[in-house]
Amino acid sequence: MMKKYNVAIIGAGAAGLSAAGAALRRGRSVVILDMGDRPARKVAASGGGRCNFTNMAAGRDRYFGKNPDFVRGALARVRPSDILDWAAGHGLGWVEKNPGQMFCKTGAADIVRALMQDANDAEILYNTPVKNVRREQSGFAVEHDGGIIFAERLIIATGGISFATLGVSDTGYTVAKQFGHKIIPPRPALCAIDTNAFPAEWAGVSIRAEIKIGSRKISGDMLFTHFGIGGPAVYSASLAGTDNDIIINLMPDIDVLDWLRNQKHKNGKKSIHTLLGMHLPTQIARHFGTTNGNIADTRDTTLAQIAGQITNFKIPARTWRHHGMAAAEVTFGGVDTGDISSKTMESKLCPGLFFAGEVMDITGDLGGFNLQWAWASGRVAGENA
Ligand SMILES: Cc1cc2nc3c(=O)[nH]c(=O)nc-3n(C[C@H](O)[C@H](O)[C@H](O)COP(=O)(O)OP(=O)(O)OC[C@H]3O[C@@H](n4cnc5c(N)ncnc54)[C@H](O)[C@@H]3O)c2cc1C
Repeated sequence: MMKKYNVAIIGAGAAGLSAAGAALRRGRSVVILDMGDRPARKVAASGGGRCNFTNMAAGRDRYFGKNPDFVRGALARVRPSDILDWAAGHGLGWVEKNPGQMFCKTGAADIVRALMQDANDAEILYNTPVKNVRREQSGFAVEHDGGIIFAERLIIATGGISFATLGVSDTGYTVAKQFGHKIIPPRPALCAIDTNAFPAEWAGVSIRAEIKIGSRKISGDMLFTHFGIGGPAVYSASLAGTDNDIIINLMPDIDVLDWLRNQKHKNGKKSIHTLLGMHLPTQIARHFGTTNGNIADTRDTTLAQIAGQITNFKIPARTWRHHGMAAAEVTFGGVDTGDISSKTMESKLCPGLFFAGEVMDITGDLGGFNLQWAWASGRVAGENA
């Protein structure tokens, strides 16, 4: 007789393994199918191999998608402090790089090991891409290259479709659609931005900046490249759509106009570009300091114009685009959360079908928020499947 499992999970990534641990703790029999030859390849590569595995600031305002409120239930059930407890329970330590941003002290491989310890009693089928899912009378038939498995409950934890070199597929979206779920069109996020709306000679320059996009203000490092802009602040800004202007304050740490007026008295004989060079890389200072003569001879209205250009450097909407799926850390969009229960992660359209992690239309900010979402939604799905 064909073996039947209580729970089948498609995807042995962050969310799938988190779900497996939770289901096993309830005494459920679990099978995990993964197309890759090893578990959690994105976790292993995360945070440059150091795995930024959570962020203490995880809350609704750090998540994006059609309905970010969807995260509230799972994040209240599984808080960042619960994830620190989980890590400590496995003997793992962490390092707080920026306030609240937690990296594994001994590296991402140890996080993968801890996940695998929790999933130890699951059967894991590697090199097993799932092709198709069928609803059966008492559960699901999951078809893969090498055959078919049966389970009462099914958790889709197939992740997003970005960063394909680490192994991705759109099977999660296909299966969701098959059961009537809507898909919010996927696009890259947490990625660089293509634009030529800045002087070519800025390529190679990096600065600390403040980026305004939509209703968000993001402070952090950014760099200008030969194709556009990148760096952490830009990655975070890339959560927004291309219908937004990107407004960059290139000198966020001082009141630029006030400082220029002050310099007029203190350093009147100096040129504007020399003075700007005290706060800006030469290439950028030169661009804004083209006015001839010294600052003492420059009118205050001109200084105000220069200050305005520096603090509101604009990359207009639709003159930029996301750099591409290949190098994007996450996929924006995915399975519409409108038809999923935020309390259990179960489909409202197909009882017994659950979703976990990035496959859903929830995208976290840069800084450990996406893994926190994978752990939390995975654990909730595993506790209910
Ligand atoms: C380079 C990089 C660095 C990152 N760094 C961080 C970080 O430091 N902190 C952070 O919070 N987030 C980080 N992220 C994002 C984070 O890794 C993901 O959001 C998270 O892994 C999503 O978890 P998931 O389980 O939903 O999907 P995944 O971890 O992607 O797992 C999905 C799994 O499903 C399997 N699968 C897919 N389709 C099929 C199929 N048809 N059949 C069988 N198996 C299938 C895949 O093989 C994969 O193992 C990073 C992402 C990348 C690409």
